[in-house]
Amino acid sequence: MVWIAVIFLILGLTLFWQAGRQKRASGLPGGKIIYTDTSTWMPMQEALYTPKLGLTGKPDYLVRDTNQIIPVEVKSNRITHSPYDSHIFQLAAYCLLVDQVYGVRPKSGILHYPTRTFKIEFTNQLEQSTLNLLSEMQNRDTHKTINRSHQEPARCLGCGYRSICDQRLK
Ligand code: SF4
Repeated sequence: MVWIAVIFLILGLTLFWQAGRQKRASGLPGGKIIYTDTSTWMPMQEALYTPKLGLTGKPDYLVRDTNQIIPVEVKSNRITHSPYDSHIFQLAAYCLLVDQVYGVRPKSGILHYPTRTFKIEFTNQLEQSTLNLLSEMQNRDTHKTINRSHQEPARCLGCGYRSICDQRLK
């Protein structure tokens, strides 16, 4: 019986070590993961949504560190110098969502690439530029209606946008 306990202990330690390794590889900062778009750490959650800004999104991770919530976006591009502007705006949009949904304005977010990790400060200037971009996008006629592009009930069933999507399949 003792050997069974030892096997379970070794298994537990291995899983714990693997989880730590995956967490470090994701570029996640210290703190508690409170939201994730993947099922590695916890069940997948629904998209964040703020009717005030008409904004919805699913950050890869949200990490709570004392009084801060840090959005983390993981990208597969192999960049060496600086992050893409589009990725910075995407991260900034998640900062806006966190501010609206959790009532905590992130000071910064993290963009993690396989080659480098960047801490992006969520400055007032970045916030304003993101709000401007958002309103520009929302004012464009072409962005008013984007119709569903598939007929796959299974895909809709597992979709994080289901609760706010008026085109979901039954
Ligand atoms: S149509 Fe279905 S899969 Fe597409 S966004 Fe809506 S709920 Fe998600």
